[in-house]
Amino acid sequence: MSKKLHLVSLGCTKNLVDSEVMLGRLADYEITDDASEADVIIVNTCGFIEAAKEESISTVLNLHQQRKENSLLVMSGCLSERYKEQLQKEMPEIDIFTGVGDYERIDELIASKQSSFSPEVYLLNENAPRIITASNYHAYIKMAEGCNQNCSFCAIPTFKGRLHSRTIDSITKEVSNLTQNGYFDFSFISQDSSSYGRDMGLKEGLIDLMENVEMIPGVYSARILYLYPSTTTESMIDKIADSNIFQTYYDMPIQHIDDDMLKVMKRGFGEQKTIELLNRMRSKKDSFVRTSVIAGHPQESRESFDRLCLFLEEFGFDRINVFAYSNEESTTAYNMPQLPQEIIEERTQILADIAKTSMLLSLEKMVGKNIDAVIDGKSSEHEYLLSARPLMWAPEIDGEILINDTNDLEVEVGGVYDVHITERAGEYLLGTLQKRVR
Ligand code: SF4
Repeated sequence: MSKKLHLVSLGCTKNLVDSEVMLGRLADYEITDDASEADVIIVNTCGFIEAAKEESISTVLNLHQQRKENSLLVMSGCLSERYKEQLQKEMPEIDIFTGVGDYERIDELIASKQSSFSPEVYLLNENAPRIITASNYHAYIKMAEGCNQNCSFCAIPTFKGRLHSRTIDSITKEVSNLTQNGYFDFSFISQDSSSYGRDMGLKEGLIDLMENVEMIPGVYSARILYLYPSTTTESMIDKIADSNIFQTYYDMPIQHIDDDMLKVMKRGFGEQKTIELLNRMRSKKDSFVRTSVIAGHPQESRESFDRLCLFLEEFGFDRINVFAYSNEESTTAYNMPQLPQEIIEERTQILADIAKTSMLLSLEKMVGKNIDAVIDGKSSEHEYLLSARPLMWAPEIDGEILINDTNDLEVEVGGVYDVHITERAGEYLLGTLQKRVR
């Protein structure tokens, strides 16, 4: 009888890809949703901000309560890497600790019941057997690990290291292999995607990569996540808009817009240039523009915050991700005088309200249009509705639309359909299938 594995992947999609690599190494195990019957439990943790750390620790402790006798509890990922000494001392519940360097050795670590922290951050390669769990048509593709930026609030470079890009050849081979298995939609990810290839001496590495991906038979749709303002070029923006494969999707976390704050945050690209880039993105036909902002960073004056609010209200982002500032050791903001927690929370709420209004306006603009969307299955909202995702949108973060009329077409999960958007109902769009396009 095969042994059973329960894996929980927390945090971002980059972590998810690493979890899928571990699943690939443990393909002999039967996956179970029930932790109490698992022989091995792995929690691939996130250590980005306070809330993520708390979630990681509580998940591990909950699973420890549920686990059966003689099972192995493994903690991997960013949190484990970042606090390795402390966690190994303070969490005897865990049998095996590993960080961000040993994903492809997870089978060995489990067999030998050894903890391990390789000094090198693991960089995916095309030969890693990876089991993609969430979808049978969409995959995340990791382009690089690490980051060369020095944002004041971010601890990621301290445990993920400097930018380390995969070769174009490795990435295109992986994508090509996935298309052989039916995958046709891809989201390209890294910490700072617009810097892709700079460590290998490529000036416009992202454009080079896109051109190579466009030539792979079977790639129907793709998008790039996480552009960084000062490394995003006008030619990158134009290339994305002109591509027949890449969606006109721009995800550029700005974190703030006020000049003074951008300096404090060590994102020295300035308000004017950031706005120029965003305007160029917005001017592209049917573009989708997403960003992230932080509320309550040290030294954020009321004027700076109001400037941010006004800009977000006026620009018309399709989506805004709002983070409450989290004070992280080993960052430059850590030793700055902090704003009171209630101000951070109040500002987070104000920004979240702006983000919601912005999203609703973006949805409203889609009513009456026809879009390509992929069917994901029955909706969890109602048994008579189907859930679909516009191919323009990224999975999970941008939401779903609901199909309430199939026009008697045969419906297949993973099929791409021309959908007419008929109305907005709260935070959802309703649509009618017109015809199948893939
Ligand atoms: S770009 Fe800034 S926020 Fe993003 S990973 Fe790099 S240092 Fe952190």
